[in-house]
Amino acid sequence: MSTITKVWLDETENECSMCGACELACREVFDMPEKMAVRKDADYSMIKEIIEAVEGCPMAAIAIEYDGSGRRDNPL
Ligand code: SF4
Repeated sequence: MSTITKVWLDETENECSMCGACELACREVFDMPEKMAVRKDADYSMIKEIIEAVEGCPMAAIAIEYDGSGRRDNPL
């Protein structure tokens, strides 16, 4: 089974609109004190919730990496 090894905001194509949907989907990973960010202590074992956040992001700004692939992967 694949494991998520990195989550980040990739705003090269679309800027985060600060809608807060990802934080609602997974507070263990996403946090918006002033600007949306991935928590330093993010719990990458929350795979279902992280994928929900990626798929629910209206700006397609959330990137995930599986198994240390070194690239932006698509949700499984
Ligand atoms: S769901 Fe996407 S657009 Fe909304 S706050 Fe999160 S990263 Fe930004």
